[in-house]
Amino acid sequence: MLVPMELHNLTLKKGYLSPELAIGWRIGKYVEEFFAGLEDVGIAAARDDDAILALKYLSRQHSPVNHVIIAENATPWDFLFFHAPTGTLLGFCLIRHRTQLPYGIRSLEPDLSRDNQAVAQIYYQAGLEQLVNALLEQSVISFCQVRQDRCRRLQAGIESGEEIHCRSCGQLISYQSARDIEGRICCPTCSGLMPDWH
Ligand SMILES: [Zn+2]
Repeated sequence: MLVPMELHNLTLKKGYLSPELAIGWRIGKYVEEFFAGLEDVGIAAARDDDAILALKYLSRQHSPVNHVIIAENATPWDFLFFHAPTGTLLGFCLIRHRTQLPYGIRSLEPDLSRDNQAVAQIYYQAGLEQLVNALLEQSVISFCQVRQDRCRRLQAGIESGEEIHCRSCGQLISYQSARDIEGRICCPTCSGLMPDWH
């Protein structure tokens, strides 16, 4: 398996190349290319796992002040990126059967610390390597669903101090705080943006 040098260095820091580290790396590189950099890109993840290590590393290459937010509540995505200058949201949902070990391999986990551990370990290690290889070699869209949304501030009505209803929850909000998500007027909560990104 050919591992990029930067990912190899991250792997040494972590101790091994986990599927989550590979996922974070591949998605981070995809987004870096998509926005031609990560300078103005907000990054959020649904879980605090090894993917964060890779995303933090890539993000720091572009901006020392960038940080990765871990969502506190349930989210409809696994990773979310917000490019403020263009108001572009990129959401990634992992396809589970392409990003997790097959059940047969996962079921070996209890055996790894038992008598037959040597055999279990060989199969488990092989399964892990196969998954990591696939994550590094296949295109990101083969193991993720990617969704792109436009998220803009409203141009009209801001000066007047008027208010408008959120189309999702019905709450009355100022034009200033409203967002237009693909033509749907939303309050900050329903916009799906992280609070730090407003
Ligand atoms: Zn709302």
